[in-house]
Amino acid sequence: MIPAQRAYNVQAVNMTHDIPFAEEPPKRREYSFSVCMLASGSKGNAIFISDGFTSILVDAGLSGIEIERRLRMRNLSPENLDAILVSHEHTDHIQGVGVLSRRFDLPVYMSRKTQGAAVSQLKRIQNLKNFECGSAFRIKTLTIHPFSIAHDAEDPAGFSMECDGAKIGIATDLGIATSVVKEHLKGSTLLILEANHDPDMLIEGPYPWPLKQRIKGRTGHLSNEESKRLLKEVTHAGLKHVILAHLSEKNNTPEKALSEVGQAITNGTTRLAVATQHQCGALLRLK
Ligand SMILES: [Zn+2]
Ligand SMILES: [Zn+2]
Repeated sequence: MIPAQRAYNVQAVNMTHDIPFAEEPPKRREYSFSVCMLASGSKGNAIFISDGFTSILVDAGLSGIEIERRLRMRNLSPENLDAILVSHEHTDHIQGVGVLSRRFDLPVYMSRKTQGAAVSQLKRIQNLKNFECGSAFRIKTLTIHPFSIAHDAEDPAGFSMECDGAKIGIATDLGIATSVVKEHLKGSTLLILEANHDPDMLIEGPYPWPLKQRIKGRTGHLSNEESKRLLKEVTHAGLKHVILAHLSEKNNTPEKALSEVGQAITNGTTRLAVATQHQCGALLRLK
């Protein structure tokens, strides 16, 4: 558990209230837009999102069995999932996609180029659907806006989604924050934002030089400082939650990320938290 840091209005994900699913799929008024960070980091990423009618995973980068275990820990039923949305083909985002899709008969949404790059890892998937970055699409009641991000994958995507006047913005695995990224993240109620590394820890750390260059580069990962700059540009009075994601376990600490990125929050009402690799976050409700 990450200690709360009141100076930056920080609240650990696990300290927020759990809102368990009922046995039956919840009705909209009792249970609206909700998010659970199942895992985040270079060993696997998965986010649960539900509007009360439609429930999806954004990436499934742990083993299928581990994702199932983490869902059930939060009283979320994998049988109630409607789809898996894939941001890009790196293993830490797709490791469990094939297994979960086959086990629960889930359609998988990804761009055509990502599909081409991921196909050998995913094996047989019955129901593959393609989206295009820049073109909104629907999964049942959820409208998804995928947008291009700068990362060393075939066609990497960030996402925003809106429901009941609330908006979720997701941008992890990006080397730079382009104007496209900023436009899509503006007006978010909840932001899931990469804070991958502390630049000094990265330079002094154990990684080989080419890997350090890759992480620092325009198609690598956002540092704490870059994440802070991006947050400064998109923060607004209606931003309720910021979850820092994809932290490096070698080149960052939750405390450094919270302290640095927290400087971008000045309104006293935005909660800042860190998503971790080994612990499932709480279920956050946006309304
Ligand atoms: Zn990743
Ligand atoms: Zn990646």
